Amino acid sequence: MPPGYGLGVASLLLIEDDLRIRTALTRALGERGHAVASEPTAMGGLQHAIDDPPDLVVLDLGLPDLDGTQLLRMLRSVSQVPVIVATARDDDRVVVEALDAGADDYVVKPFSADALDARIRAVLRRSSTDGAASTIEVGDLAVDLKGRTAVLGGRPLDLRPREFDLLAYLAARPNEVVSKRTLLAEVWQQPYGGADKTVDVHLSWLRRKLGESADEPQLLHTIRGVGVKLVGPPG
Ligand code: CA
Repeated sequence: MPPGYGLGVASLLLIEDDLRIRTALTRALGERGHAVASEPTAMGGLQHAIDDPPDLVVLDLGLPDLDGTQLLRMLRSVSQVPVIVATARDDDRVVVEALDAGADDYVVKPFSADALDARIRAVLRRSSTDGAASTIEVGDLAVDLKGRTAVLGGRPLDLRPREFDLLAYLAARPNEVVSKRTLLAEVWQQPYGGADKTVDVHLSWLRRKLGESADEPQLLHTIRGVGVKLVGPPG
């Protein structure tokens, strides 16, 4: 099985100003197993994509505050997240412009949720197998960096983007104690401000999803006052 194929839940960000379409797609894609967040404006969408990076963006090109293609160029300057554009205009020029701006695929309105879902899965599959497969394995844990999925003991983990980043960072350094300061800098790209609650909260969410607790750690061991390490199997 190629890395990431058919595993886990994709987090999608839907940027769409039409409330009716937004509501219907959020529900339909949710029913197809995706975790869907949505934003009604281009700038809101851009901010969201930076703050809480999704696995894939579905971008309506006709937005009230900014042309979708302009937004795509801005997004591309900071992120390589896969993007599928939705256009109301069946117009070659618009589609070519969007693809040139970095879109991975497109759909023309009106489209069915099934058609969009098929494209989403195809784009995710493609992006997860681009280049060298990179899977980190530590004991029973397998982390697929391209597909952004993780499996523990054969069970796919349902991780949010930040939880995945955190797990991937630690899994890449088994048995190495990593400070919260380093995690904030490397995983959150934030300077250490004395407030390490963010890291603590995410660690506790991650622990729960791994099926363990701070009192009875299996993989994630906190070294009080120093940091945290992901412990691999002995030998
Ligand atoms: Ca629109």
